Amino acid sequence: MNRSAIAEASKVFATASCAVGFSGAGISAGSGIPTFREADGIWTRYPIQEYGTADAFLRDPEKTWELFGNLAADLDAARPNPAHLAMAELESRGQLRAVVTQNIDGLHQRAGSVEVIEYHGNAATGRCPRCQRSFTLRELSPWPPAPRCPQCIEVIRPDVVLFGDPIPEAAARRAQELFTVCDAVLAVGSSLQVAPASWLVVAAAHRGSAVIVIDPEPSAIAASAATVMLEGPAEEILPAIVANLRDSNNS
Ligand code: NAD
Repeated sequence: MNRSAIAEASKVFATASCAVGFSGAGISAGSGIPTFREADGIWTRYPIQEYGTADAFLRDPEKTWELFGNLAADLDAARPNPAHLAMAELESRGQLRAVVTQNIDGLHQRAGSVEVIEYHGNAATGRCPRCQRSFTLRELSPWPPAPRCPQCIEVIRPDVVLFGDPIPEAAARRAQELFTVCDAVLAVGSSLQVAPASWLVVAAAHRGSAVIVIDPEPSAIAASAATVMLEGPAEEILPAIVANLRDSNNS
């Protein structure tokens, strides 16, 4: 582990007036949840155009349910890993204002993070597109066939942002507020290839905010946004940063 980069990241947290977290699929890799874009990722098995777009859902909701319904069951069984717990501890120490997550797994909340902005929704619930009634996936299972609203007979949509969907308004607004005022960003486990989420980090970097990137194989975009780069698994690096901050408080 790169000790001097850990010390540098700790210094950013110790001096920032507003640090904001940004997480992607990689933070949950240590909980056994596959990322989407890597060689063995979800999009290799379920091509985006067929399973993951708003149009694909209208064309063939059974396929979208095959992907997100099955994924939701895996997400439900997963547990937060030391990276999620470290992010929650940073928040409770007053060193991280909130986390904007692209993840749909709810693991930040289960680790104890209080302000979690779910930019791409959450796979644990679904909604009737007509009457807006919300259902837990437990209420909707088993499928196939794709579940329907008992009142409207419409096919329920998983509460996730599909490609082609807008970002939920409240999440977009709050994320924008945070990323406009922050002076440090902690970007963990994201290839930063999915817009508009990635623009938050890129724009903060252009504005002059510090950007700490944690990723074992950072993308070119992540590398160019980073002011501190920590190459390695989040579940090892984030607890080391928190331990460093605890030690410097005690010394
Ligand atoms: P991505 O798949 O594009 O990138 C994942 C990044 O994580 C990669 O750069 C990879 O090198 C890195 N990574 C892998 N293992 C890691 C580890 N142990 N520690 C830190 N980093 C690690 O993911 P993305 O940027 O989040 O964008 C893809 C979209 O996929 C997001 O919208 C998200 O909603 C969705 N997604 C969510 C989940 C989830 O909820 N857990 C899982 C897969 C995908």
